[in-house]
Amino acid sequence: KGPDPDIEAITNRMSTVKHKILVLSGKGGVGKSTFSAQLSFALAKKDSQVGLMDVDICGPSIPRLLGLEGQEIHHSNTGWSPVYVEDNLGVMSVGFMLSDPSDAVIWRGAKKNGLIKQFLRDVDWGDLDYLVVDTPPGTSDEHLSIVQYLKSAGVDGAVIITTPQEVALMDVRKEINFCKKVGVPILGVVENMSGFVCPKCSTKTDIFPPTTGGAVKMCHDMDVKFLGSIPLDPRVARACDEGRFYMDEFPDSEATKGFQKVIEES
Ligand code: ADP
Repeated sequence: KGPDPDIEAITNRMSTVKHKILVLSGKGGVGKSTFSAQLSFALAKKDSQVGLMDVDICGPSIPRLLGLEGQEIHHSNTGWSPVYVEDNLGVMSVGFMLSDPSDAVIWRGAKKNGLIKQFLRDVDWGDLDYLVVDTPPGTSDEHLSIVQYLKSAGVDGAVIITTPQEVALMDVRKEINFCKKVGVPILGVVENMSGFVCPKCSTKTDIFPPTTGGAVKMCHDMDVKFLGSIPLDPRVARACDEGRFYMDEFPDSEATKGFQKVIEES
């Protein structure tokens, strides 16, 4: 059996991308897409050439988080063109292909895999310093496809997002084991929504039991790096809902400091 032509084509396409980073989470709603978006904005701000690929086929939220709702992708001779937020920040999402953003995408596995393959093979990113891949929550067949297709192109590693609750941490353990099993390096774990810092008096209140510290301990137990925590800040949700770059707008907030530390550490 000869080499898989799809994998060859993907490896070829990815040869102009220096670093490929997967963003994973055990559960939905923990802030994975928010982190992917803020990370992409932050890297682009440092003058890197950045691509953000949203392969969360059933819940593509990236277009909204980047203020790109209603945009469409264009075809050219060299493949699909990403939608650009800035000259150095391109975005590709299945959300651009849905006529109604509230359309639930209920596709069979084979069709999802086909789309993932097309995304990795046919998007004309040009030269990129970073490709940030926002994946669906959990460890599904789609993750296996992504890893399988990207492996020969070389994945730098995965950042895993969690919240402090034990239920979320349990799923993160599965995520870590998945990465270890398929041979994707883990850049580290981020604890999001880690307490609430009152914008008026700066007092920190823990919201979820077992409170801060659970993720640190889990990282220690499983021998992975803890990248840092990001507190809840209602302004994060508001800025993201409106597709704005939160960290730029609130440079001195605790959540921005959290994002910055995590990005530096990873
Ligand atoms: P996921 O991609 O894991 O499903 P999202 O990134 O869509 O999660 O985040 C879920 C919701 O939580 C969004 O409304 C988002 O704005 C909000 N959110 C994420 N992180 C924070 C934070 N640190 N502070 C406040 N709201 C947040």
